[in-house]
Amino acid sequence: MQLRRRSPAVATVLTALAAALAACGADPASTAQPASGAGTRLAVVATTTQVADFARNIGGDRVTVTQIIRPNIDPHDYEPTPADLTAIGAAKVLVKNGVGLEGWLEATIASAGFRGTTVDASTGVQIRKGEGEEAEHGDPHIWHDPRNAKRMVQTIEQAFAAAAPADAAAFAKNLAGYSVKLDALDADIAAKLGRLPAGDRKLVTNHDAFGYYIDRYQLQFVGSIIPSFDTSAELSAKDVDDIVAKIKQTGAKAVFSESSLPPKTAEAIAKQAGVKVVAGEDALYGDTLGPEGSAGDTYLKMEEHNTDTIVRALGG
Ligand SMILES: [Zn+2]
Repeated sequence: MQLRRRSPAVATVLTALAAALAACGADPASTAQPASGAGTRLAVVATTTQVADFARNIGGDRVTVTQIIRPNIDPHDYEPTPADLTAIGAAKVLVKNGVGLEGWLEATIASAGFRGTTVDASTGVQIRKGEGEEAEHGDPHIWHDPRNAKRMVQTIEQAFAAAAPADAAAFAKNLAGYSVKLDALDADIAAKLGRLPAGDRKLVTNHDAFGYYIDRYQLQFVGSIIPSFDTSAELSAKDVDDIVAKIKQTGAKAVFSESSLPPKTAEAIAKQAGVKVVAGEDALYGDTLGPEGSAGDTYLKMEEHNTDTIVRALGG
């Protein structure tokens, strides 16, 4: 009796609430502010620019993705902000790259009071051996092989479906569509690099971020200016001499700088070795996507940009 009498009022409240939530969900600004109410959408936090792009592609309009690391910010020594803690504390799902790239994350999760699911996007990916500080976890730059990216989006899709079963069909559809694009990307890169003469497929990069790409497309790694794990390392005079000697010995045609790193050392080394340096607008996207509107503002575009740049610099 009592229940029946109260139900119209309850229904009114629920209707109002649903309308408010729907309004929240439809608000484009809510993408940037999941903590203030994400409506019925799954609240996701993603650490790196790559996994955030994957999460947006798989989640579509059924998730709100808060991306922790901004474009062109070095992910190797990231320091979380209070806003990151707030976002993580409010999230249902946290997507990370894994392979030891986010050394700061564990403590951040603990202080944020995060109670959701952490998705390690590297699950199931075959990890390359790492040097130096990366010997423990392996080489974290897994996304530069599109076949790994395909694995990563599968893992993300499974986690999203488990966290929001009502939207599982939408996630599966997004996964299928994006996987087709990743297959096309892989074939496209292989075709473009396949046109480079075998003797010219030599890569000198700013830091050692392209091991998976080099393995996948049978390039030759001549050397990197700084090691992969410490992007702030200073080179000794001997290090500089060594890399210059390697460039001369192998006949590598260019030194590639990266968008998230200062190009000065790359420029100096290229000059000493008498080869061109690829920097500025053409710099490779190694550790992060580029800012919105740049040639590397999505994962698919970043890999195409890198490939076109490499072909241009080494093929001429
Ligand atoms: Zn790196």
